[in-house]
Amino acid sequence: MKYVSTRGQAAPVDFIGACLAGLAPDGGLYVPETYPQIAPPRPDEPYAHVAARILSAFAGDAIPEADMLAMCERAYASFAHHSVAPLTQAGPGLWLMELHHGPTLAFKDVAMQIIAQLYDYMLGKTGRRLSIVCATSGDTGGAAAAAFAGAKHADLFILHPHERISPVQRLFMTTTGAPNVTNLALDGDFDDCQAIVKSLFADKAFVDGVGLSGVNSINWARIAAQSVYYATAQAALGGKIRFVVPSGNMGDALAGYVAARCGLMTGGFEIACAVNENDALARLFKTGIMSRAPAVATPSPAMDISVPSNFERLLYEATGRDGDAVRSVYDRYKQAGEAELSDVAKNRLGCVGITASAVNNADTLAEMATFESETGWLICPHTAVGTFEARQSPRTDVVTVVLATAAAAKFPETVKEATGLDAPLPHRCGSLLARGEVFDRLPADVAAVRGVIEAKMQAAP
Ligand SMILES: *Cc1c(COP(=O)(O)O)cnc(C)c1O
Repeated sequence: MKYVSTRGQAAPVDFIGACLAGLAPDGGLYVPETYPQIAPPRPDEPYAHVAARILSAFAGDAIPEADMLAMCERAYASFAHHSVAPLTQAGPGLWLMELHHGPTLAFKDVAMQIIAQLYDYMLGKTGRRLSIVCATSGDTGGAAAAAFAGAKHADLFILHPHERISPVQRLFMTTTGAPNVTNLALDGDFDDCQAIVKSLFADKAFVDGVGLSGVNSINWARIAAQSVYYATAQAALGGKIRFVVPSGNMGDALAGYVAARCGLMTGGFEIACAVNENDALARLFKTGIMSRAPAVATPSPAMDISVPSNFERLLYEATGRDGDAVRSVYDRYKQAGEAELSDVAKNRLGCVGITASAVNNADTLAEMATFESETGWLICPHTAVGTFEARQSPRTDVVTVVLATAAAAKFPETVKEATGLDAPLPHRCGSLLARGEVFDRLPADVAAVRGVIEAKMQAAP
């Protein structure tokens, strides 16, 4: 298994190279040279087995399958529900896929728990130590902190926008007590955090000096790990499924596309990305123009993203895997803040089975109340963006699965505002509030962040 860059100018690497690098050296994202064809899961196949089979197909010879299975079993033992991604019916033809049973109550755990295992395994073999940097709009940071706390071969640096994430989200990342986890609260928004991470990666000497690596949703291992639950949903429900995916960076939705490319969506599929008022993705699908608008704060902060990074992987496919074409789009976008896709790319994009639409803040909050009154369940604001979109365009020809990307308890203030109800943390998170928080506040400045990482390196064992 080889991985190539979407911008066509980086040497192919293996699975381990793609995972540890995050971003390719030419600024592109890694994708498999060809998609492996994977046997669909049996309905009774345990989640960790399915995950091991799918991840092994992506890893190729890089990791023995028995080791992969052991890692998947350890990773998914941390979930409170032993199906890992259970499906529950919310109405006729409408299902929720609950992806929030991991340690930090959001779907990011599904990928991060296995990635931390993979990293320690791969680094242990190569004798390297890495500095992992991660920009978060809320949930990635917590998931990474929970997964990497105590990792033997990696230091984790989490950049979050100061006071732009919910207190519970922050607690999950600032209370691990692990010496290898550093939290930086930056005076800026998520896009600033992401831009700093990009600048750090652009500095080759720094990357090599501190062994910089990333676990943002551009990391291929995350996409691979997230493709697993699309396959298990297909195995459980059969037939053609419309997945409605609350989207920000589009990693989760892209994982569904990848599952389909690997032959795992045997009944056929559609993916409807549902975004909040940060609607760059919806505009892009409608107009074929990538355009930047500043991120605005919404009730679904994990989706407050103005540049949906993973779209680049889809664009690569839509251009017929033409790295030069992708590079030219992103160069124009970088220079002018806007770039129009070619007619060929627009046409192909129109037939891959993916769409995107935006849901406004008022509809999101109203949906949380409506959903509760119809089912008795509290949903998180991100999930509500999805269920609103699903019910806005009801379908009888397919079964609809909305990805429930976080637990309501992670956003208690918004739940209270929308429904008047309390969403207490599950018992297993009980000690969170009692633990001390550790984070440093910094200006949104590359040099400041670089300084923190270098200081940590010098202090490392
Ligand atoms: C990260 C996140 C999303 C968006 O996922 P992408 O892969 O960035 O599209 C949606 N909901 C929640 C709760 C999240 O944490």
